[in-house]
Amino acid sequence: MPSLLCLALTGKTIRENLAAVSRYRERVDLLELRADFLAAEELAAVEHFPGLAGLPVILTLRRERDGGCFRGSEQERCQLLGRGAGNYRYVDLEEDLHVPSLEARLRQSGCSIIRSFHVFQGVPGDLARRFQNLSRREDEIPKAAVMPRSSSELLRFLRAAAELRPELARHRGILLAMGEFGLATRVLAARIGSFLCYGGVPSKESAPGQLDPDTLQTLYRFGEIDEHTPVYGVIGRPIAHSLSPRIHNRGFIALAIKGVYLPFLVDDLEAFMASAEILQIQGLSVTIPHKTGVIGYLSTRDPGVEAVGACNTLVRRDDGWFGANTDVEGFLKPLLQRLGEIRPGLGATVIGAGGAARAVVCALARSGVRPLILNRSVQRARGLAEDFGCRGGGLDQVELIQGHNELIVQTTSVGMEPAVEGDPLPDYRFNGSELVYDLVYKPQLTVFLKRAEAAGCTVIPGREMLDRQAEVQFKLFTGLDYPPR
Ligand code: NAP
Repeated sequence: MPSLLCLALTGKTIRENLAAVSRYRERVDLLELRADFLAAEELAAVEHFPGLAGLPVILTLRRERDGGCFRGSEQERCQLLGRGAGNYRYVDLEEDLHVPSLEARLRQSGCSIIRSFHVFQGVPGDLARRFQNLSRREDEIPKAAVMPRSSSELLRFLRAAAELRPELARHRGILLAMGEFGLATRVLAARIGSFLCYGGVPSKESAPGQLDPDTLQTLYRFGEIDEHTPVYGVIGRPIAHSLSPRIHNRGFIALAIKGVYLPFLVDDLEAFMASAEILQIQGLSVTIPHKTGVIGYLSTRDPGVEAVGACNTLVRRDDGWFGANTDVEGFLKPLLQRLGEIRPGLGATVIGAGGAARAVVCALARSGVRPLILNRSVQRARGLAEDFGCRGGGLDQVELIQGHNELIVQTTSVGMEPAVEGDPLPDYRFNGSELVYDLVYKPQLTVFLKRAEAAGCTVIPGREMLDRQAEVQFKLFTGLDYPPR
């Protein structure tokens, strides 16, 4: 069963919150009025809010020490919370707030009590036990929000969630992980077993990692995710910039495939791979810095992984993880589109000697091309050159490019957002005949490509390689061709 989506409202005025409700009404199932964000003069209208909003509402008045803004006394807080009686569907009371008269009044009015605790620094080792002890009564809804700060804390959260599964189902419990490490688990509320997920108004989120309802419903199809939805994703560090969720979810939606593709910030591969078992992740794209680390987890692999020494795709199979490298094919497709075929004698230069450069050199070597390799660290350029029988040098040796300038492939991260002014080869003057390929895909045209284009060169932006390699991945994940764009 899908989980409910609750829009957390943090406006300073009732009017501002009502504007957010009309903006997102079609996307959400219920609302949470964070009354602690309201200006003092607005508090008088708190009881009228549910009638004006026209959706079920949770009333919450969070103290500063629980991550909220309320600075008044506990007596004032209880008085305000009591005004939820008869108007609100739910009232959120923290685990230490036990005021029998308030609770009785709320219950008599038909209001359900959410009993909550929040941990903004990590995931407690006793999360499952603490959650189980939350509700003193069967009719209360337990809620815990914790903040994993690493892959191993995310794993601890997922283990606790698995243990709490029956508890969550019995009490319609709410369990969520905040922050970037927890982001995917918000989308996967139904897989975790959480009764609801909180979404936020962009730039007005009530907690770190909250997504807006448009992103949740249109990019991730939150309302269709249930406990059986297959999970895919991309792992890396950093990961927030990744375009892969847009590419793969678009494919799932266009072909009506049941599945969701999520970004996972990963700082510890071993811990993450254990989480991938709990979530039964079906396929993963892999980016910096994990492309070599994941090789240790493969049961089978395609020859590209061996040749490049890096793996950017994991697919779950009956005998364990199958690994592939789709960068090689993704790199070659746009090139072949321009050249028709790659002649063995093609004069080529590769700038950079990192993981992407290795895939490029490997792809070119397949066609018998031995490119010149120039890199900031000359040692690294020479190491890569030696592996493929090429010549290596430093970025200051631009004179070597003469004779290797039919194709120039830029594989360093120089020129990538946010440092878009960077040019890895400022001393090289294009003569206009070079085919220039930059692997950087943000921005669409780097300073390096703009300079080449201005000199009359044909250019290939990195976005083309990104899209082509993702299409090969999509086929490995689903067995289907990526839908036409
Ligand atoms: P990597 O293994 O970390 O290698 C980084 C490369 O950039 C190395 O050659 C490094 O030189 C060089 N570099 C970094 N900072 C530099 C600087 N300030 N000046 C000069 N050189 C510098 O990373 P990677 O996996 O190869 O990725 C490199 C780039 O390719 C990234 O921007 C990535 O997004 C892009 N990429 C794109 C696609 C695509 O589909 N379009 C696919 C893969 C990668 P040193 O060896 O001297 O450190």
